Amino acid sequence: MDLGNPRIIQQIIKEQNFAVQKKYGQNFLVDTNILEGIVNAAEITKDDVVLEIGPGMGSLTQYLLEAAKEVIAVEVDKMLIPILKDNLKEYDNLTLIHGDVLKLDLDEILKGQRVKVVANLPYYITTPIVMELLEKQENIESITVMVQKEVAQRMQEGPGSKSYGALSLAVQFYSKPEIVLNVSKHCFLPKPDVDSAVIKLDIYKKEERPVQAKDAEFMFCLIRAAFNQRRKTLLNALSNDAGTKIPKEKTLEALSKMGKSESIRGEALTLQEFAELSDLLMI
Ligand code: SAM
Repeated sequence: MDLGNPRIIQQIIKEQNFAVQKKYGQNFLVDTNILEGIVNAAEITKDDVVLEIGPGMGSLTQYLLEAAKEVIAVEVDKMLIPILKDNLKEYDNLTLIHGDVLKLDLDEILKGQRVKVVANLPYYITTPIVMELLEKQENIESITVMVQKEVAQRMQEGPGSKSYGALSLAVQFYSKPEIVLNVSKHCFLPKPDVDSAVIKLDIYKKEERPVQAKDAEFMFCLIRAAFNQRRKTLLNALSNDAGTKIPKEKTLEALSKMGKSESIRGEALTLQEFAELSDLLMI
């Protein structure tokens, strides 16, 4: 049974009397070319353990199970658990976990194994999921995810773009992003309002990151403060933000060493410049 076939998914929904949950971002992927494209882009082999977030009806899961050594899939909707068990009963390389990926302890689930993350993400929590995964990157080799098209673009943006922000900087600090597929809304059931894209984030080894910061956590505090009040000057944003409270003289001195104007906004700084600023403000 090919779970990438829209007629099969429609039939399961009908037979199981399943109510699709908009609140969980349920748009099931029903296009075999795209499913194959995701697995190919993620470069899944029989040596790989895959973490899938939100298996839904199991379409992507089935393609991953065929290609990988093992798939660990985390699904929040308890109504989907018996359906998934039934749809994927012929596979013995699936570990199915019922829970909210943002509340589970991923370290406990992964048990130190290195994984590739592959998912058609629920769009209402794309950013917190990607941020959480990037912060846990020691065990993650790559993240290949379907997201809203604009979000995929935001992950690749630099200064000068309206959508440049904390997500762009986190993605580019920890990984090399590449949009690998554009996906029409017609490939889903039910059809979402927006088009989508699959983006692959190849996670850098810590020592190979092109931008290094002495204290990445501190740099991200600065980045959050800068973009929380993105219309303010960096000087004001860093002194006002409860998380940073950096005296203006200190920021002025750092900006002057960097050859930057005191009226510059955070949105004008590159990742390299945020790292430089963070190193200067730590002293
Ligand atoms: N992977 C399936 C596919 O491609 O057809 C379904 C993708 S659908 C866009 C998102 C899935 O994530 C749904 O199955 C939804 O129930 C699940 N989900 C939503 N919020 C979640 C959360 N916090 N933790 C785990 N799964 C979640």
